[in-house]
This record gives sequence, C-alpha cells and structure tokens, in this order.
Amino acid sequence: AARPTAPYLDDLNPAQREAVEALDGPVLMLAGAGTGKTKALTTRIVHLLNTGKARPHEILAVTFTNKAAREMKSRVGRTLGEAVEGMPWMGTFHSICVKILRRHQELVGLRSNFTILDTDDQIRLLKQLVRAAGIDDKRWPARALAGVIDQWKNRAWTPDNVPVSEASAYDGKGVALYRQYQTRLCELNAVDFGDLLLHVVTIFQTHPDVLEQYRHRFRYILVDEYQDTNVAQYLWLRLLAGGHSNICCVGDDDQSIYGWRGAEVGNILRFEKDFPGAKVVRLEQNYRSTPHILGAAGGVIAANKGRLGKELWTETEAGEKVRLIGHWDGEEEARWIGDEIEAMQRGTRGLRPFSLDDMAILVRASHQMRAFEDRFLTIGLPYRVIGGPRFYERMEIRDAMAYFRLVISPSDDLAFERVVNTPKRGLGEKAVQTIQRIARENGVPLLDGAAMAVEQGAIKGKGAQALGKLVMDLSRWGRMAGAGEPSPRDIAEIILDESGYTEMWLKPKEDPDDPDESRQPKDHEAEGRLENLKELVKALEQFENLAGFLEHVSLIMENESEEQAEKVSIMTLHAAKGLEFPVVFLPGWEEGLFPSQRTLDAPPENGVEEERRLAYVGITRAEEVCTISFAGNRRVFGQWQSQRPSRFIDELPEAHVEVLTPPGLYGGGYGAAASMHEESGLEARAAEANVYNSPGWRRLREARMSSRPGGQTRGAAVIDAQAVSKHVVGERVFHQKFGYGAIIAIEGDKLEIAFEKAGVKKVVARFVTGTDD
Ligand code: ATP
Ligand code: MG
Repeated sequence: AARPTAPYLDDLNPAQREAVEALDGPVLMLAGAGTGKTKALTTRIVHLLNTGKARPHEILAVTFTNKAAREMKSRVGRTLGEAVEGMPWMGTFHSICVKILRRHQELVGLRSNFTILDTDDQIRLLKQLVRAAGIDDKRWPARALAGVIDQWKNRAWTPDNVPVSEASAYDGKGVALYRQYQTRLCELNAVDFGDLLLHVVTIFQTHPDVLEQYRHRFRYILVDEYQDTNVAQYLWLRLLAGGHSNICCVGDDDQSIYGWRGAEVGNILRFEKDFPGAKVVRLEQNYRSTPHILGAAGGVIAANKGRLGKELWTETEAGEKVRLIGHWDGEEEARWIGDEIEAMQRGTRGLRPFSLDDMAILVRASHQMRAFEDRFLTIGLPYRVIGGPRFYERMEIRDAMAYFRLVISPSDDLAFERVVNTPKRGLGEKAVQTIQRIARENGVPLLDGAAMAVEQGAIKGKGAQALGKLVMDLSRWGRMAGAGEPSPRDIAEIILDESGYTEMWLKPKEDPDDPDESRQPKDHEAEGRLENLKELVKALEQFENLAGFLEHVSLIMENESEEQAEKVSIMTLHAAKGLEFPVVFLPGWEEGLFPSQRTLDAPPENGVEEERRLAYVGITRAEEVCTISFAGNRRVFGQWQSQRPSRFIDELPEAHVEVLTPPGLYGGGYGAAASMHEESGLEARAAEANVYNSPGWRRLREARMSSRPGGQTRGAAVIDAQAVSKHVVGERVFHQKFGYGAIIAIEGDKLEIAFEKAGVKKVVARFVTGTDD
C-alpha cells in the first residue's frame, strides 16, 4: 500500500519519526527531558489509527497521571478530528486495572461492586487486625504494617510468595497479618490501591484464557514515564505484551523519582533482555528549554553516579541564565516570588510579559505551599494547586480547623461532629446519637448537648470521662481565645496538643535496641500531616486572633469557586513530571528540605541521587525562565532553624547561573521581616553566620558585595556558637517561644527556666538569649 501522507509526521525529527513509524515489535525510547518522547508516543497512537494498523479499542496507552491521560486524549482527538469513533484505553495503571478487575473480580474472590479503600480505611482495618493479634500497636503501629504491605504489593508478592528474607518484617508477624488482611478485604468485598494491580497480575498468571483475551485485544501497548514503573507494573506489562511484543516504552533514567514507592529503573535496562530485538531510539534534541536551563540541569544531574548518560542539545537562543536568589526566610521567599510573578506579568528586566498560566511554582514538600497560598491570597494573585488538595483542604488541616471553629463558635455542630471522636475518645456512633438526641430535645447545640449528656449520665464509662474533658477543654480554650492570651499561634498549639490531635499522628518512639531499621518503615503520610500541622500553626503568627484567621481561611476556600481564567500553578515536583511551563520557580533549595531530611538520614546514597533526579526534573520543566531560591531561616517544628543552601545549588555550573540580589537583607521594602528576626537575637544572627559559611551562600554574598556600594554586609558578624550556651543560674533570658524567664538550672546544653508566662520548662540553650535588663 502507498504510504499515506501524514502532516503530523512532518512535525517530527528523524529519530522521533523512526520511533513512530516502527509500529510492530518492541521499541524503547530512552531520552532526556523535553526531547519529545511524549509527543512521539502520542503521534504513534495517531499513526497506528491513521494507517489502519489498529482500531481504537486495540490500543492501550499507560500514562503516569490522570492529567497526562486527559492531555493525551485531547492531543489524539485533535489530530484525528472526528474521523475515528471510540478512543483507545488511555489512563494510569490504576485506572486501567480497575476496568479490567471489574470484569473478572470473581476470579480473585470478589463480588461485583467491590469497594476501593482509601488509606484511612486501610489503616483502620489493619489496626483491628493488629489489636486482635494482641500486638502492642504503640510499638508496632498499623501504619508501619501498611507501609510493609504496600511495598510487598509493589513487588507483586502475594502472602504466598513473600520471600523468606522478609520474614522478620513487622516483628516477624508481617506475613501472617498480610494474609489475614487479604482475607478480611475479601470478606468485605474490598480492595486497596495496591490490590488493583496485584489482583490483575494474579488473574493473568492463573487464568491463561483471560490473559489471552487481553493480549488479543490490546495489540499495541504504549507506556510513558517508563522509568517509574514498579515490579508489579512491569510484570503486568510483560504479561500483556508477551504475545505480540508490540510494546513501545518511553522514559528517562535521569527522571526516575519514585524509587521510594518501589519503582525500579532497572526495568529500563531489562527491557532489551525481555524483548529481544527491541529497537532502541535515542533522542537528543531538546525542544523545551533554553541552553542555559539545559546546562544548569545537566550540571546538577552529572553529579549522580551510575547513569546511562546522554547529551542534550537545542537550537534555541541562549536566553536567560538560571536565576539564583537567597532570602532571609520562607515568608520573604513567598513575598518575593509573588512580587516577581506580578512583575513578570507586566514584562520586566527585558523579558517578555507572561500570562499567569505560563508560570509555576514547584515545591519539594507540600507543606511549602502554605506560605505561597497565604501570600497570593493577600495580594489577590489567582493560583491553582495541581495534584492533591490545596493546603486548607487536607484532612488534618480540616480536623484542626474544626477544633478552632468549635473554640470560637461553640454552636458549630459540624465542627463538633468532626472532632468529637477524633482522636478516638471511645465515643462511638451510639454515644453521638445520644448527644444529638439530648441536644435536639433541649434545643441546644451539640456541644451543650454533650455537656448535658455527661451530667445526666446518659453516656457512661471511659467515653463519658473523655467527653467531659473535651467539653471543659473547649471552654478553657475559648476563654484563652477571648482574652487574646496567649497568642493565637500558641493557643493553636495548645489546642492541638491537649486535644491529643497531634499525638494521633505521632508515631511511637523507635526502639533503640532494634538494630533493624527497615522493620519500622517511616510512614510518609503521617510525617507529612505533622509537617502540615506545624505549617498551620505557623500561619497563625500573622493574625491577631483566631477568629481573624478562620475568616482568612474561609476567604481562601471561597476564592476557589470563582473561576479565574488565568492562574499561577503550584504543585510538588513529583506532580510536575512530564509538564512544561515558560516560567518556573523552584523555592526551598535547602539542605534538609531539598534534599529532604529523610534522604539525608537514611544511609544509602541512592536517596540523595533520587533527590538530585528530582532537581533535574524541576529545572527541565522550565522553557524560558527558571528561578531557584532558598531561605537562610525557616521555622521547622516550631523553632527557627538556620538553613544551609542545598548541595544542588553548589552543583549548578557557574556559567549558567545569574545571582539576583535579595532585597531582604538590604531592607529594600522587605526590611521589616529581616529586622524582626534580627531583634529576636543571637539565634537568628548565628544562623546567618552559619549560612554564610556554605559555598552557595558565599557565592551569593560575593555577588551582593560586588554589586553594592561600600560592599558592606549587614549582620554578617560571625558569632561564636559556643558563647551562646554560657549562661548562669539566675540569669534573665529570652526564649523565642516562651518569652522572658529566669534560669533555674543548667544541664549541658539544656536550661531549666521559670518563664513568666509559660511556667517552668526545660529548653535547649541554643534557643535562648540573654537580656540586658
Ligand atoms: P519529559 O521527559 O519532560 O516528559 P518529553 O521528552 O516527553 O519530556 P515532550 O513533552 O514530548 O518531551 O516535548 C517537549 C516539548 O517539545 C513539547 O512542547 C513538544 O511539543 C515539543 N516538541 C517535541 N518534539 C518536537 C519537534 N520535533 N519539533 C518541535 N517541537 C517539538
Ligand atoms: Mg514526557
């Protein structure tokens, strides 16, 4: 047959075209960021359909996010026009597996309409099993077990084939509990996320006829972001493509960022072995970013060992260098970025004007978003948060807010219902019904109903005691809030601590005698929630009272409903995979934040390498302007902490970086924040002294010194950190959090202090400064 003329092929370079036109047999497209892998993959679908090689239902395309799937659908739809009826299956591994599982559920013992549990349900179920097994769930939290089971499912291990090397997991009871959990899920006619894939793999492995049916149906398989597939996903693909081998995978080993979730880059390397005769296509021309951006990204990723290694080039003009800027603290960083975005909208520093849709802020940790959301609301800058709820919509934040609401408005029944048994107070459905009945009969809010229920003895036992305490606590907190003492920030902290809410997310102390750390995998979710709670408390610092804060948040929430045409995007680096924006801001490049503390604490160097790949993903999202920033001070767990610029900053090649002058340290409009922290004394200044010793900050300072008449740097006096702890008993001191007090005792670096407002507390000397009065 004559080759059909296809205008869409003219948009491709020869290497892409080769990958698109090699329709039959295995193809692996291995190439760096922005080289048009996704574009080639999408065009391949169009080509399959256009040449009549495949009908829509014979194509299966796997993407990493639902958003990516939607984008691919619209691109395919656009290129094909109305001509084709039906669409290929395009979606994430999960969404495709749900579809398949719904057709064959009985093969794994499920019934129709099985439910998919979310993480909370999953934990609740595991907790029941753990308790029933007589295990102390303080020492061996159910969350840890959930983590273990997830990892096993990622490796496609059913309870029957978990290897013996894992026998010690979860105090040696992991496998048995895993088996019970699967049985229980089956009884409940439910699955968790990991099961979606695992069940389908099991069905394919145990029912060759079903596998054959799908092999026959999906004659062409395409996979984007292949570097992030885990073992279970890989098995699934190998089973499906096993017959015809018409599989095309595209990926970039440098962008593998899901190792912590069980993804294995090795899958890329194994491809040629599993699919012999695979055509391997390499793309080297980048169409997305300017040479400076590529140069900066290349410089960072070069520090990783064990890469496949590849060169990228581009035809575009050099453009802007990657801009680097340091700030006094995180709030100032948010303020500067907000102002910069507005300036860039107008067109600034010789750059073209950009639309808000062109700009994105990519953060390492979701708790970083709060500062931006608050700032943007204040200045009226429209934004959207991509991939995950916005800060104030998160479960733990809504729980905490419900407490605050109830403190301010005791008649907020919705808030009452939300918090009455969160954390668990032994108040089940029945107790709540009793409260509702009493409240209804007396025409009072639920909180008053609760007080009456306790008084009348309508609720008994442990629950009654806990409820009584809650009622009393709420009114006490209410009085504090009314008196405006202590500060709203401190009240919030008190509420979260005394209600037991924070504790609920705290995992028990790790057993120091247990040498095997892996037996207690960290619960990523609980940690994130705790960080978000700290962020929430921090947000309160800017408010005079709790009520004002609640109003602020309800405004943020309302803001969402009115559809703004143009918005700045805020998302995590993980969620930004595969996307591109003309202007990208990368804040928070500090040791302990990025790379994250978790990866720094864990021994394998691999963790930092994964963070570095994440840095590479971040920089390569930018088309024209990329701005990296860091703060010298950040409040971490309620305490100001000096931050060192990220090692990744030191890895940026000098030739591709331009250092911008931070306004904060000069007082140029941002002076208030800087002087505020300066007043708080030694700690902040010591922090600066520290920061000043890192190469990243030194570079910044040098640039600043040379750009400033007189070359003087404020507050750069180096302070002897030892001197800080040289206090004497009886001395009057000031503490960041607890205010003024007198030292009662000194033990090494800890001081026992009688605070004027906060009472007697033991604190770390580092956070205490002497006073002259
Ligand atoms: P990532 O690794 O980040 O997922 P990618 O390799 O998938 O990147 P694409 O997103 O497909 O890259 O392409 C990057 C940009 O380059 C897109 O805007 C795309 O439209 C454009 N592009 C790709 N190939 C070409 C080409 N041959 N000619 C012109 N533009 C192209
Ligand atoms: Mg892509």
